[in-house]
Amino acid sequence: MRDRVEIMGVPIDKGNLNDARERFIRLLEEESCSTIITPNTEIVMEAQKDHKLLNVIKNADLVIPDGIGLIYASKIKRKGLTDRVTGVDLMYKVLEYCDRNSKKIYIFGGKPGVSEKATENILKKFPNINVVGNRSGYFKLEEEQEIIENINKSEPDILFTGLGAPKQEKWMDQYKSQLKVRVAMGVGGSVDIWAGTAQRAPEIYQKLGLEWLYRLKKEPWRYKRMMMLPKFMIKVLLSKEI
Ligand code: UDP
Repeated sequence: MRDRVEIMGVPIDKGNLNDARERFIRLLEEESCSTIITPNTEIVMEAQKDHKLLNVIKNADLVIPDGIGLIYASKIKRKGLTDRVTGVDLMYKVLEYCDRNSKKIYIFGGKPGVSEKATENILKKFPNINVVGNRSGYFKLEEEQEIIENINKSEPDILFTGLGAPKQEKWMDQYKSQLKVRVAMGVGGSVDIWAGTAQRAPEIYQKLGLEWLYRLKKEPWRYKRMMMLPKFMIKVLLSKEI
């Protein structure tokens, strides 16, 4: 049984990183394709207007709170989310598991060459993983069937999808029934972090819940999207129920 809370109508799984890892292992035992997604505050706000996105989140098999705003909101309204569980950290745990159990993965996403570079670095750290395929995340609509066929032919256990949010969530949801993988996980910019083309915020920012500030400094053009965070907090503070 899943233990979930709703933040502004968006269901999110409770628990810490280890609980998320345990659920991933259970999902891996199932034949059909399960999806793991990692929404942050921006995505929860986007889902208020985008009902397709809301349904995609409702359909996902594990939804972890990858946004400090979600944890603040939960604390203020006593919803029961205690830990921020990031996609980067869960991806690391998944890779660690795949290494110990010689699982097969496919990395789909990023600019040309990025998933290959990420593969190289992943294999340095986790040599027992079998990376059965790579593909950049830039493609035309008419290429999608060929992409799915290529993934299926490679027979990965896990598909990491890094197309940015909410594109990756919608893509995985749309093709879930066609994908012959056990788990498809949306990993956004984590592929870039593995490739070394982006850096994660230093630990001090992570500890202080200021990863968003680091990102704003590095990618100032994202400020419009990031304005969602204060908007979200105001909404939380002004509403009786969220
Ligand atoms: N990306 C991609 N295809 C696209 C759009 C984005 O592969 O059509 C990749 C992009 O190169 C980057 C990753 O998705 O590696 C994350 O993008 P972004 O930073 O916009 O998303 P977020 O981290 O907010 O999910």
